[in-house]
Amino acid sequence: MAKTLIYDLDFDTFAQALTELGQQPFRARQIWSGLYQQYYSDFSQFSNISASLRAALSEQYTLDPLTPRASLRSKDQLTEKTLFGLPDDLSVETVLMRYEERNSLCISTQVGCPMGCVFCATGQMGYQRGLSTGEMLAQIIHFMRLLKTEGKSLTNIVYMGMGEPFLNYEATMDSLRRLTDPSAFNFGARRITVSTVGIIPKIEKFSHEGLQVNLAVSLHSADNELRSQLVPANRIYPLKNLISACRAYTDETHRRISFEYALINDVNDSTAAAAQLAGLLKGMLCHVNLIALNPSKHYSLQGSPREKVHAFADVLSERGIPVTVRLRRGIEIQAGCGQLASSQNPL
Ligand code: SF4
Repeated sequence: MAKTLIYDLDFDTFAQALTELGQQPFRARQIWSGLYQQYYSDFSQFSNISASLRAALSEQYTLDPLTPRASLRSKDQLTEKTLFGLPDDLSVETVLMRYEERNSLCISTQVGCPMGCVFCATGQMGYQRGLSTGEMLAQIIHFMRLLKTEGKSLTNIVYMGMGEPFLNYEATMDSLRRLTDPSAFNFGARRITVSTVGIIPKIEKFSHEGLQVNLAVSLHSADNELRSQLVPANRIYPLKNLISACRAYTDETHRRISFEYALINDVNDSTAAAAQLAGLLKGMLCHVNLIALNPSKHYSLQGSPREKVHAFADVLSERGIPVTVRLRRGIEIQAGCGQLASSQNPL
């Protein structure tokens, strides 16, 4: 019988399973703490429970569904991409980015992605399946353990790796609840960002979840026709409706929304395009993150040169739209946005 991934269970389900094993309710809390605060990787580490219970747990549950198959570090050693094998032999990639004062992890939510954004290596590899809650959390725990051995900790988590999180909505929400639950990871919600390409019904749903998690929307163009070419989801969820949904989100949550904009040379990077974007976002509680498109062997066009990126940013600033120019990271190891593609792009 296949073992259950223990991180797929919420606390109540786990406590019930322990009761069925004849255990007192306090045992569930003890084990939960070993899982979520000590990041134990083996049942033998649970020294506060009996050997017979450890044996019973290890017969039914697995603690780690991920097999690291390869890991690559960028030349500056600051970006690390790991290819993880899953129990069904599929694989996903996860990226750790080290900064002076923080360590940020980019996790995957699906194997592949059905959204087909033209510049994205993940989108071009097709879709295989969604990850479970536990498989998302396992990526995080892997790097929490690693950083702990270095006396460091994870400070930020972004759901921007392989996949569209809002197409795997329930598992994504469960993972966010577990991350922010004070009795589980107790990770600050404001240090977590979920990214979507613009699945409108789920943006609406997300606004009612009561989570203080940040939302990022990948925009890439303020022109509906061009956006449909770059991001096919725009044909289902057109720009005008998307922006209305984003305004409703900020009204409901009073939270700032981030817009991601990958600048593609001579495609969406003119100062006129910047002015159009500023007009679209006028008056919204938002922030724009600009990044020159990362190179991909699946897409022949190039990222915009530095001067065009800054000219675009200047237009937004002049028109009162808060903007940050993001540095490209880890592109030589295909660890940048839009470059993750798992086994089809071996490390
Ligand atoms: S950019 Fe995001 S939504 Fe688009 S194909 Fe890539 S992973 Fe999917």
